[in-house]
Amino acid sequence: MKKTTTNMIPFNRPHMTGKELYNIAEAHFNGRLAGDGPFTKRCHAWIERRTGCHKALLTHSCTAALEMAALMLDIQPGDEVIMPAFTFVSTANAFVLRGGVPVFVDIREDTLNLDERLIEAAITSRTRAIAPVHYAGVACEMDTVMDIAIRHGLKVVEDAAQGVMSAYKGRALGSIGDFGAFSFHETKNVISGEGGALLVNDPTQALRAEIIREKGTDRTRFFRGELDKYTWQEVGSSFLPGELIAAFLWAQLEEAQSITDDRMASWNRYHAALGPLEAQGRLRRPVVPETCQHNAHMYYVLLSPEIDRQAVLTALKENDISSVFHYVPLHSSPAGLRYGRVHGSMEFTDTQSARLIRLPLWVGLTAEQQDRIVKVLTSVVT
Ligand SMILES: *Cc1c(COP(=O)(O)O)cnc(C)c1O
Repeated sequence: MKKTTTNMIPFNRPHMTGKELYNIAEAHFNGRLAGDGPFTKRCHAWIERRTGCHKALLTHSCTAALEMAALMLDIQPGDEVIMPAFTFVSTANAFVLRGGVPVFVDIREDTLNLDERLIEAAITSRTRAIAPVHYAGVACEMDTVMDIAIRHGLKVVEDAAQGVMSAYKGRALGSIGDFGAFSFHETKNVISGEGGALLVNDPTQALRAEIIREKGTDRTRFFRGELDKYTWQEVGSSFLPGELIAAFLWAQLEEAQSITDDRMASWNRYHAALGPLEAQGRLRRPVVPETCQHNAHMYYVLLSPEIDRQAVLTALKENDISSVFHYVPLHSSPAGLRYGRVHGSMEFTDTQSARLIRLPLWVGLTAEQQDRIVKVLTSVVT
């Protein structure tokens, strides 16, 4: 019998605000399609105002923003960057592209973020930077990370791909370290298909960031009328998106608060509904420390270790619910083994990543759909 898919609850459904095509039509009408046009400028101003970063620069992805950060830090072959292995590949790839060596440190049992208590012991004479990843939009313990960085003369690149609209002690994620990287990929909260931004927090680094982003030239200053010609200044690349992407993104940024509010309502509904399963020891819900204002990027649960995760995912799928796991930790991946090294035990990276499943979470997910998800999950784990 052919299975109907009309009841399927997707894992993610990109949210459109309704204004994207109007903005794209306006950019089209203006006939100004290359990067750094009026929509890009609006997006930059929004990010700077909302996060308090010194300078925001749109990129074509968070991956590109991380690669820019590695160029900004002049990472040389053999330079070490301390990071979690429980992250997306781009955190590591950006530095490996410059010959850097990711040094993987374990995550905290509670937030699944880089364990700040393990960073200092991983520092060597080759360490140049720390790359904390704010998993699920929940902040790393940034006071400790920044204190270690300052005492050891290290730079901090925040992978805030998942952290748009999140904060740590009232400070926007991405605005705390030397650099921050946002993602606007369609799987994130605020989207442009592919897209990202580099947040530059040290004012002395802003001009150089503009140069690296514009193929290594000072073209951005030239366009501002500060120079009468532009020339090749540095090693750089083309990291900026065209105006159509920025036009799309501007519609999303204007709705960032309502997007966050809608997701937060669903997040809170899951959290309340799954309390009893946590009390029964069947799973563990996400932990959000009081210092963190999160953005409801993700709702995940950590299944009790004796539960067969694949069986749970299969059962959800048979009930038309699409759920996924991640990440396969980088330290045990083929490239991670080749390019990185591990410092210390990876106990929680290994145990927590093997237990985790992510539940559907997107703008427009209904209470009825969530009830169905919780009901099916409850029946398979108890
Ligand atoms: C999504 C994500 C990225 C990559 O973002 P892109 O915009 O797709 O390049 C990097 N790091 C983390 C932690 C992510 O979640």
